[in-house]
Order: sequence, then C-alpha cells, then structure tokens
Amino acid sequence: MTIAGSMQVRGLAIIDIIRHAAAAHPTREIVSRNVDEPLWRYDYVRCFERVARCAHMLVRLGIGGGDRVSSLAWNTHRHFELFYAVPGIGAVLHTANPRLPDDHLVFTINHAASRVLLIDANMVPIVERLRSRLGVVEHVIVLADADRTPAGYAGYEALIADEPTTYAWPDLDEHCGAFLCYTSGTTGDPKGVLYSHRSVVLHAMAAGLSGAFGFSAFDVVMPCSSLYHATAWGLPFAGTINGVKFVLPGDRMDAASLHELIVNEGVTFSGGVPTIWTMYLDYIARTAAGPGTLKRIVIGGSAVPRDMAVTFDRMGVTVQQLWGMTETSPLGVVATPTPALAELGREAEQERIWTRQGRMQFGIEIRIVDDEGQPLPHDGETSGALMVRGPWVIERYYRADATACDADGWFDTGDIATIDREGFMRITDRKKDVIKSGGEWISSIDLENAAAGCPGVKVAAVAGVHHPKWEERPILLIEPHDGATLTEDHVVAFLAARVTRWWLPDRILFGPVPLTATGKIDKKVIRETHRDILRDG
Ligand code: ADP
Repeated sequence: MTIAGSMQVRGLAIIDIIRHAAAAHPTREIVSRNVDEPLWRYDYVRCFERVARCAHMLVRLGIGGGDRVSSLAWNTHRHFELFYAVPGIGAVLHTANPRLPDDHLVFTINHAASRVLLIDANMVPIVERLRSRLGVVEHVIVLADADRTPAGYAGYEALIADEPTTYAWPDLDEHCGAFLCYTSGTTGDPKGVLYSHRSVVLHAMAAGLSGAFGFSAFDVVMPCSSLYHATAWGLPFAGTINGVKFVLPGDRMDAASLHELIVNEGVTFSGGVPTIWTMYLDYIARTAAGPGTLKRIVIGGSAVPRDMAVTFDRMGVTVQQLWGMTETSPLGVVATPTPALAELGREAEQERIWTRQGRMQFGIEIRIVDDEGQPLPHDGETSGALMVRGPWVIERYYRADATACDADGWFDTGDIATIDREGFMRITDRKKDVIKSGGEWISSIDLENAAAGCPGVKVAAVAGVHHPKWEERPILLIEPHDGATLTEDHVVAFLAARVTRWWLPDRILFGPVPLTATGKIDKKVIRETHRDILRDG
C-alpha cells in the first residue's frame, strides 16, 4: 500500500531547458561557425526567440505531434535550434548521419519516415544524389541565410524571418518521443533509438553533475562530438541547463580551425572521439601552439590511448574518459576522481582515471555477468558482459516489437568489462572484437593502447584474424604520422617491453586505418581485408 504524494505533477520537457537558460543566463553566448558564412553570435534569449520562430515555421508546413523531421547538419546554431523547436512542438528530430554509406542513410530517413529534411548547404549534393529514394520527404529546407540558399531550395532564414518570437509550447506527455538516433549499423541495418523528453531531461541533469561533466555557467563548451551522433553526448542540453557559453565548430573539425576557436572564444571544455584529439595533438606538436584556455577534455566513443592523456596533462589539460553508446543516450559513465583515490597520491589517481572508462553514477546501473547471466564480482579483475539499466537506457529499438532487455530490464551492451570496488569500470573489449587465441583472450583495446604509445604512430588498430593453429591471432595496422618512418622491428621491440610475449601481433602492417561513420576504427573492414593473411600460419 502506498499513498499519493502531494507535489506538483509537472512533466519533464526539453523546451523547459532553453526556457530556463533564457531566463537565468540571458546574456550567455552561443557562437557558431556555419557553412561559408561569417561567425554567428547570439545569446540564449535570442536563441529561444528563434526556436519559437522555427516552431511556427514547422507547424505552418503541417508538422505536428509525433511527426518525424530529419536533419542532415553539422554542429551549428541552426541545428541547435532544431534540437529545441522540433521536440518543443511534440515532433521527433531524427539526426541523420551524413557519413553513413548511402544505403544506410536512405534506410534511416525512410525508416524514420520523416516528412521534412533540414540540411546544411554543403549537404545538397548528398540530397540530390538520394532524393529519388527518399519518397517520404515532402520538404527539403537548407539551413542557410537567404543569400546562400541554393536555387530551387527553400531557405531556413527566409522561412522563419516573419514568424513570431514566442510560441505557446504545448504540455506534452514526458514519455513521448523527442529524438531518433540510429546506431551506425556495423552489422546489418542501423537500429533506431527513440529518446523521450523524460530520458533527455534526466540525462541532461545527470550529465552536468560533478561525477560527470561537472558544468557551471563559467564553462565555455565546444562540442566536437557531432550533434548527429547521439545528440553530441547530450551536451546541448547538459550545457544549456547550466548556462555555459557554447562554441559550435560547424563542419570545420580540423585541428587548426578548432584551435582558432579555442583561443579566440576562450573554450575551457571540449569533448570528442580520440581521432579528433590525435589530430589536435599532432597540430600542437607541429606548431608549438599552447592549449589556450582549455582546461578539460572528455574523450569517449573509443578507448583513450594512455599517452594521449599524458600529453594533455603535460599541457595542463585534464583528460577524463567517457563510456557510452547510442542506446544509453549516450552517457554511461565518466572517469572522475574520488577522495579514496586522491589519498593514494596524484600518480595513482591519474593512472586510474586515465585507464578506466568511467565510474558509476546515479541513474545508470552497471553490472557484469557471466555466460549464464549470473552477476560477477566487482573486484577489478573479473571480466564479464557489461549490462546497464536506467531511465535513459533503451527499452526497445524503434519500431521493434520485442524488448531489447532481459526480464529484469538489463540491456546487454555488447562490451566486456571489469568493475572495481570503487565503481570504476574498464572496458577490455567489444564482444565481437576480442581475440580468441589458443583458448585465451587478447584485449584488442589494450594492445592498441600499447602500440599507440610508440613514437611516430598516429593510429593503431588491432584485429583478430583466423589462424590455422591458434584459432585467431592479432594483426596490427599502423597509420604513421606524416613524415614518420616506422619499421616492423622497431614496433615489435617497443611492444615487447610492454605486453606479454604471446600477445605480440603476428603481422604489422602500415597504411591508412579505416574509420566508421562515427569516427571509430572499423575492425570489420580490417578483418575482411586481411582475412587470409595468416592462412599459412
Ligand atoms: P556505433 O559507433 O556502433 O554507432 P555507439 O556510438 O553507440 O555506436 O558506440 C558504442 C560503443 O562504443 C560501446 O558499446 C563501446 O564498445 C564503444 N565505446 C564507447 N566509449 C568507449 C570508451 N571510452 N572506451 C572503449 N570503448 C568505448
């Protein structure tokens, strides 16, 4: 038996985040680089007004509650406006990933059944190529000002120009869909994850906490994870709740362009996948530039090479690792310090922070289980399948009939991990990437991490391929830095001092490392390309 609480029943709504920022942080800025346009600069009040204009425009086009709208856009202020306007009217924003192969891109927009497609100007060639296959799309709108809207297209600025700057935002059921994000579909078709208003707002509140991003209004945040990839880790919401200044880099994610923004706009915090920071560190080393005002970088999506964290630390920039996936909105865990760790001294503390994917935080339960689904101890040694549960974890894929979870609501992440007594989680591998050699496991992540520390290595990728005697053996593909000369002997000598003998790769290859649409090492391609390389042992 329970009795009803006597508090207000007010649903969690995404629009309330920007409404709050406009009221509580009215003059805090959002600065945006846009495709072939001058730098854009405004504050939360003006942003909220344009969100209202955009909402009116969408309603005028016939978009209403439950309708889907797709974006094909970079990290810009107009894309940011869609993040509030679309869910604000009860519709769903599907953030399409322009780096997906054509078939997958077409699949996601058609699967979402989006009636409107809003694109950046340099996406026009993609849309022209695929238009005939996008039967459901009724309107294509280019996110550009009137002068830069290509002939034959409707332009966003022209469409919103005469709309009112306020909107009577409807009360929505907090469980209704708001964002539709697809996994990149490394196996089979991409799968849709439909975030709700409730999941997005709870995730945003939790992401800003000190056990995660730890935001305040003094932060200047430059998201280098894409708005189209799991809502850029929810930064547009977690940052806005806390009134941070946003710096949106647009489509120019090269190191020089990012560095210019960091210095000119006083960026203190950024986040993105390791490949971006590899390029950035290379640029810093070549130009002898300093990190400007940058204080903290959260890196995730793939394991953070230890050397990357050490190099940033020497520059006075703190690195924290994040683990998450589209199915977890995407924040799972972030590696943040604890008093118990601090007592062990700075070196031990850093070691733990740099080599762990993150630490348990409220709202997302994590555990590891064996092959029979039995829970395993949190001793930092035992590894098992990583399971997650919580209010911003997927229940079922979009349009799927069956739940994606077990009977107790746990979602199997497909990752293998250890968890220690302090709640730190360490990913040892993705289930499908782990290398089974002679009945033992080799962690491709640990081997990559060791190889990435070898001077001259830009990216190191390890994959398991068939071996007639051992079942599988590791091969290592190295993409060297420009101008670096690396030999197989040199790399083997470097690794031999760092990993056990039987982990040493059977082949070391040099060449470009293939990446997925979300900037991760594409091991499937490496495995397929070199499938027979160890055929003769
Ligand atoms: P995809 O790239 O397949 O579209 P996600 O972006 O959702 O999908 O990727 C989630 C996966 O990325 C996780 O299951 C995990 O394997 C990997 N991942 C994310 N963060 C980390 C990290 N810090 N270290 C190692 N692996 C990570």
